[in-house]
Amino acid sequence: MGKISQIFEEARKEERNYLLEPEAKTICSEYGIPVTKFRVTKNVEEATQFAEETGYPVVLKIVSPDVIHKFDVGGVILNLKSSEEVRDAYNRILVNVKKYKPDAKIVGVLVQEMAPPSTEVIVGATKDPQFGPALMFGLGGIFVEVLKDVAFRIAPITKSEAQEMITEVKAYPILRGYRGQPLADINAIVEILLNTSKLVMDHPEIKELDLNPIMVYEKGAITVDARIILE
Ligand code: ADP
Ligand code: MG
Repeated sequence: MGKISQIFEEARKEERNYLLEPEAKTICSEYGIPVTKFRVTKNVEEATQFAEETGYPVVLKIVSPDVIHKFDVGGVILNLKSSEEVRDAYNRILVNVKKYKPDAKIVGVLVQEMAPPSTEVIVGATKDPQFGPALMFGLGGIFVEVLKDVAFRIAPITKSEAQEMITEVKAYPILRGYRGQPLADINAIVEILLNTSKLVMDHPEIKELDLNPIMVYEKGAITVDARIILE
């Protein structure tokens, strides 16, 4: 069985319709969507060892089917610069999650490379009952959440459709370096949109997908959080 069907199968067995971040990122990676290097760790030693291998700074996140919005419950700790900081954050995350939900099932703690701060964009996919999967693009934070400044296209999309999705959002000038904003690698975003299109077309069992956020640089882009909901 392929890596992807194995992940779907495991979720089905556990009666989860929600994939954990490392599962979603493994699937994205199989489709050439760049994601932060990561490992699911089961104890502080494993966490510090992977952090040492990866290099600092790193990010720690809770991996639990009972925590969907990790940041809101203190389940994400950013910018850890030493093994002492990793140790401390590891324990803090577990305390925070227990406070939020004492019986939360904990799979482990995700250690991952910290992507340098930059412009954040969002790529999503949802299913339209009539037209099937549709792709979404927008800039992160207030642009999507408050201003609803997003572009949609029915999948599968072509390269020029992917380019249009990016240029048609009102916030597009920000990606072009408006008022000193960092320039964004548009081609890297186009690639991610095309690969996401292929992923959802190949896997009709995906009901919703959310790459939120993707950090975009002058050269390249990287997904720092991924969520997948299954039918
Ligand atoms: P949530 O489940 O709450 O959406 P995220 O994994 O998206 O949690 O983390 C919350 C925020 O922390 C992200 O929106 C992003 O700004 C930042 N972040 C998360 N992971 C990383 C990372 N690996 N590198 C840099 N920033 C990150
Ligand atoms: Mg997120």
